[in-house]
Amino acid sequence: MSDLKQLFTQAAEAAAHYRDQVAEAPELPRLAYKALVERMSAPVPESGSAPDAVLRELLALTEGGLMPIVGPRFFGWVNGASHPAGVAADIMVAAWGQNAGFHTATPAASAMEAVAERWLLDLLDLPEESGIGFATGATVANATCLAAARTHVLGKVGWDADADGLFGAPPVHVLIGAEAHSSLFASLQLIGFGARRVIKVDVDGEGRIIPAALERAIAGLEGPKVIIAQAGHINSGAFDPFTDIAAIARAHDAWLHVDGAFGLWARASANAAERALTNGIEHCDSWCTDGHKWLQVPYDCGFAIVRHKATLEKAMTQWASYLPQIGTGDRVPSAYVPELSRRARGVPVWAVIKALGRDGIAEMVARHCRLARRLGERLAAEPGIEVLNQVVINQVSVSFGSDEATRAVIARIQEDGVLYAGGSHWRGRWVMRLSVTSGPTADADIEITADAIIAAARAVKALV
Ligand SMILES: *Cc1c(COP(=O)(O)O)cnc(C)c1O
Repeated sequence: MSDLKQLFTQAAEAAAHYRDQVAEAPELPRLAYKALVERMSAPVPESGSAPDAVLRELLALTEGGLMPIVGPRFFGWVNGASHPAGVAADIMVAAWGQNAGFHTATPAASAMEAVAERWLLDLLDLPEESGIGFATGATVANATCLAAARTHVLGKVGWDADADGLFGAPPVHVLIGAEAHSSLFASLQLIGFGARRVIKVDVDGEGRIIPAALERAIAGLEGPKVIIAQAGHINSGAFDPFTDIAAIARAHDAWLHVDGAFGLWARASANAAERALTNGIEHCDSWCTDGHKWLQVPYDCGFAIVRHKATLEKAMTQWASYLPQIGTGDRVPSAYVPELSRRARGVPVWAVIKALGRDGIAEMVARHCRLARRLGERLAAEPGIEVLNQVVINQVSVSFGSDEATRAVIARIQEDGVLYAGGSHWRGRWVMRLSVTSGPTADADIEITADAIIAAARAVKALV
């Protein structure tokens, strides 16, 4: 065997070994961050090492500190499980070393991204004239979409934000749901709209924008406007009423953006009830969603989808004599995202969609929603456990009475290690958040999970 083949084979074997182990008996990290930093700390190596020795040391140093995010009973945050087809594709992406910023330099990688772009618009049933930037995640994708919004709404009043910036520009009114995801405020901060300089619109008990409140907030506002809606609330999974919101946006000539980091995939569900939650979303101007959440693409991957492709290109384009010309008809990958050089992010996206297929994605999304409902029902049937949200997609938010009890159950669950779930603060209370987003999660995992949570709740109750 060549040295290279031996090296890559060792990496592939270690990867397969890890995945088999996580599939069978997922283990939570035994070591905390500080202990791992201590284990890994060393001075800069004065001389190099053989690559296979580096790989062996890397495996030894991380042992006991890996979170089983790719396992079947990981319900923390909203995390996908890195589909094996995407992992294999990413090995090729790294090995090829294609700089996928421009199509003239890396034709195959750029062509695959162009095809993945068409597939995503088809799967999500969004306007085919849209362009998609392949970004690192929803945070950057949101910022990318909002930058296009900025270019568009200021352009309409004769201000070139890309050339002249925001100093002295006509003010832009930004209206956003009171329970929008934290990352949107980071995006607003980044693009110069300001995290605080927004109009927060009242929401209902599930965190959905109330159309009448939006109407009241926008009435009488003069000048450029951007509305930010949400598909998939982080704690409830709820969807804003897009048909009503889109009508208000149209009437007031506002750009309508939607953060659908995970929820946008409800549109691809086999179940009509979940698809219906996204009704009217096709009327938005821009949409953001993640590849690394519900679609199961390995990290990192998010999509900035913008109906007005030329506006996105204007907001993102850079020019130098040694870069390809924009506007010649060919899709230039870097014209849709803030980055220039980057990995061939379209390749694992293509591979995961190819592996799952339209029906595989539809089945997975519908299964996760069905399993979330089942988990919610089992937990709600136990005295002392309260499911706080309507389980419309894959999110379940649970209280165990007092904040103290909820925190104690979460701590106990994390100690037991049967599953992973984290906490969140919602509607003035601590909740345990369970997000069913991992590709391999099956019916049996949900029964094991419900049993473990109920047992932990009983144990905590017996203590207090
Ligand atoms: C996860 C999430 C984000 C941020 O996405 P990243 O991929 O972590 O950058 C934004 N909005 C919602 C609703 C999310 O769930």
